[in-house]
Amino acid sequence: MTAVYKFGGASVNSTEAVRNMASIVKRYAGEQLVIVVSAMGKTTNRLEQLVPGVRPRAEHPALLEQLRDYHRQIIGGLFANPQHPVVADFDSLMAQLAEQCDKEPTNYNFDYDQTVCFGELMSTTIISHYLNSIGLENLWVDVRQIICTNQNYREGIVDFEQTEAATRQFMASHANTRTFVTQGFIAGTADGHTTTLGREGSDYSASILSYCLNADRMTIWKDVPGFLNADPKFFPDTVKIEEIPYNEAIELAYYGASVIHPKTVKPIQNKNIELDIKSFVTPEAEGSKIGPFDTIRPLTPLYIVKQNQTLLSILPKDFSFIAEENLQTIFAALAGLNIRVNLMQNSALSFSICIDDNEMLLAGLQEKLGEQFHLRYNRGLKLITIRYYTQEIIDKIVAGRPVLLQQRSRTTTQLIVG
Ligand code: ASP
Ligand code: MG
Repeated sequence: MTAVYKFGGASVNSTEAVRNMASIVKRYAGEQLVIVVSAMGKTTNRLEQLVPGVRPRAEHPALLEQLRDYHRQIIGGLFANPQHPVVADFDSLMAQLAEQCDKEPTNYNFDYDQTVCFGELMSTTIISHYLNSIGLENLWVDVRQIICTNQNYREGIVDFEQTEAATRQFMASHANTRTFVTQGFIAGTADGHTTTLGREGSDYSASILSYCLNADRMTIWKDVPGFLNADPKFFPDTVKIEEIPYNEAIELAYYGASVIHPKTVKPIQNKNIELDIKSFVTPEAEGSKIGPFDTIRPLTPLYIVKQNQTLLSILPKDFSFIAEENLQTIFAALAGLNIRVNLMQNSALSFSICIDDNEMLLAGLQEKLGEQFHLRYNRGLKLITIRYYTQEIIDKIVAGRPVLLQQRSRTTTQLIVG
């Protein structure tokens, strides 16, 4: 039996959380286990501020200090011995990070990946040492040697053939190892640079590895009891979904259901591997299952809210209509900057897109498109998707707020609200 477990940032965000995570791992000791871990807590957000060019250099020392203190506190809680080798390993990563963030900016997406990867390198270093220290013998694996992507920085495209071969070779040379600890989110190019798989990409990492290992099952350990029909942070009465067909899960993730990264489902679907989403707070409870089911069960409206959205209207300066040639220019700019479009709509005179807010990328778009187009934007919006909606449900959700844009299909409606 081979199982792949993914632990996200919230499941390892404190000393207690790491201890709890270890207790879950312990329950299943015996089978071959690949443990994929994200950066601790909100570390990736902090690291984004340290990408060269994002913040004035003068702010770096304070940001680095915050990161160091946060991790050092967790280390202090987990290891009684202040000379434990984990300390030197962690300090070495901090030193490499300090050097990286001090570099001259080159290409934002490239710099981003070389910087934010430290979150996962730190978390897995600490966790691997900790599990070893409590008798859960494991091997720390640099996943950048295994998951291979192209040079599409900030959202590397995985070379499955290469990755499968590397996985097979690696496992063959570690046939006696039962437990592996490795990083989510990050990967490597053939020429040895770090890439990332997109924000919240650790689920996808676990899925890639499940695919390559022909795992018997994959489990994502979350701070919620499973796949809920809405985010309990914003909705008081949520319903846990018991069974989700692969394709439904793909749709939901695509619309932004934060419980799972959009690319996660396809690899496990291709190998018919069942994915469990379970709570790390109540690990014995049944979670939600994504698998070869016919319908979602129970069938209930599903709400997905994306925060921090920017609605960008792109208008040709020469008053030409929005047509294929304009769209080609616009999409080339979006693709060139790796901007993901969450929703789009066109009229004769303008093309509107909803994207995740990002100052650097907006500036990049302005630079690429500013000569030919006027760019107008509204920031700080929400994109709400409702699947299996009724008008009554829409009215309740909108609750008199201005709707900047709405789209509907038979099963799904999307609204951009202030
Ligand atoms: N640490 C990364 C992020 O926060 C990846 C992940 O959590 O899945 O986006
Ligand atoms: Mg995360």
